[in-house]
Amino acid sequence: MERSSYTSTTNACKLCKPLGACLAFRGIEGAVPMLHGSQGCATYMRRYIISHFREPMDIASSSLGEKHAVYGGGPNLKQGLQNVMAKFGAKLIGVATTCLTETIGDDVPMIVKEFRNEMRQSGVLQLPALVTVSTPSYSGTHMEGFHAAVRAVVEQLSEDKACAHMLNLLPGFLSPEDLRYLKEVVDDFRYPSVILPDFSMTLDGPALEDCEKIPRGGTPIEDIRRMGGADATFEFGSTLEDFKTAGKFLDEHFGVPLHGMGIPIGIRETDVFFGALEQLSGKECPEKHALEKGRLIDSYVDAHKYLFGKRAVVYGEEDMVVALTSFLCEVGITPVLCASGGRSGRFEQAIERVTAGIAPQSPAVHEGMDFQQIEELAQELSPDLLIGHSKGYTLARKLGIPLVRVGFPIHDRFGGQRILHVGYRGTQSLLDRIVNALLESNQNDSPVGYAYM
Ligand code: SF4
Repeated sequence: MERSSYTSTTNACKLCKPLGACLAFRGIEGAVPMLHGSQGCATYMRRYIISHFREPMDIASSSLGEKHAVYGGGPNLKQGLQNVMAKFGAKLIGVATTCLTETIGDDVPMIVKEFRNEMRQSGVLQLPALVTVSTPSYSGTHMEGFHAAVRAVVEQLSEDKACAHMLNLLPGFLSPEDLRYLKEVVDDFRYPSVILPDFSMTLDGPALEDCEKIPRGGTPIEDIRRMGGADATFEFGSTLEDFKTAGKFLDEHFGVPLHGMGIPIGIRETDVFFGALEQLSGKECPEKHALEKGRLIDSYVDAHKYLFGKRAVVYGEEDMVVALTSFLCEVGITPVLCASGGRSGRFEQAIERVTAGIAPQSPAVHEGMDFQQIEELAQELSPDLLIGHSKGYTLARKLGIPLVRVGFPIHDRFGGQRILHVGYRGTQSLLDRIVNALLESNQNDSPVGYAYM
């Protein structure tokens, strides 16, 4: 019998699904993320997140062992919830499942329902909000876990409360600096908003005298409850058509109009975001932002001689890759490979949308990739630079080309949490970094070392 050849994933271009859910829960005020699974999952995720954000990140665990794989983990989960309530005084506990508990088939919503009843019977009437989300890592990426957790929070907490004008902003997984910027933009339009999740403080806060068990900041739970009465929802992401997102839930259940749009990187995608804000608020783009756009256009012209015709490999989360590809085409860089570990089924179509009529050639687009595969393709394509997260460092070193770090994780540089990617301002910063990375590479490779370029 002929055996099909199989090569296992080698250095995946994606991360664990409940890791994304934990990050989303971290962006809610007073919340503690909790994994229903083994200690090892929580330890891996804490280490991974801390080395990017450089902030403490508690992730509770129901701490299952071998016998629970046979008898089920319900009692451990209930004990764990009580421990988190007693030790943290959490306002919300976000419970994400893991590979183990999904495989043994623990019914987490039912266990949590039993827990609520048992607590009530024992006289504990004030419970934190308990949100559950199913995140088997073998069926998706950290981005799917992130979106699933945001949807679960909205599904399980939001109500159809009439509220004064308000915008729901669902930005997806961006940096704390991005979230601060988005808040500034919406505030400049003088439009009240709720951003979910908001880890701009909880994962990038100031130094304090005393460690806080739960870092301050995050989207207030009361605001999440009001999301069903908002005027509109803006949800970032070009590959979300087939996902059950929070924006779709708010639209379908409460009639909140959903405006899906790409992550606002580059002029075209940022114009869409600002245009939607202008339409919603009835106000023109504030002068501060119009000037930033003007300077950005000017710098596109200035940078053209350094960037035109350069070839780039872009990899990472699908929506981030789409947004970056759109921007690269605007500045004259040719994306030759767009790769992601995700499998939305919408990636190629989204890349086609942002490259059509502007890219000199269609890039190779691949879903479900690992870094072994990206390397094999990149070797043939002779790129001038890589754009993506730190996991591409080894490849950049092998190819001898610069890596411009964006997104998550950034483990081999300082300040990943403060990278601004979005808006006219974030695009400006990205453009400057790309030009300088190429100039530095030219200087390093030059036998004479130009001082003036
Ligand atoms: S076992 Fe599954 S849930 Fe746990 S860390 Fe590994 S991939 Fe993530």
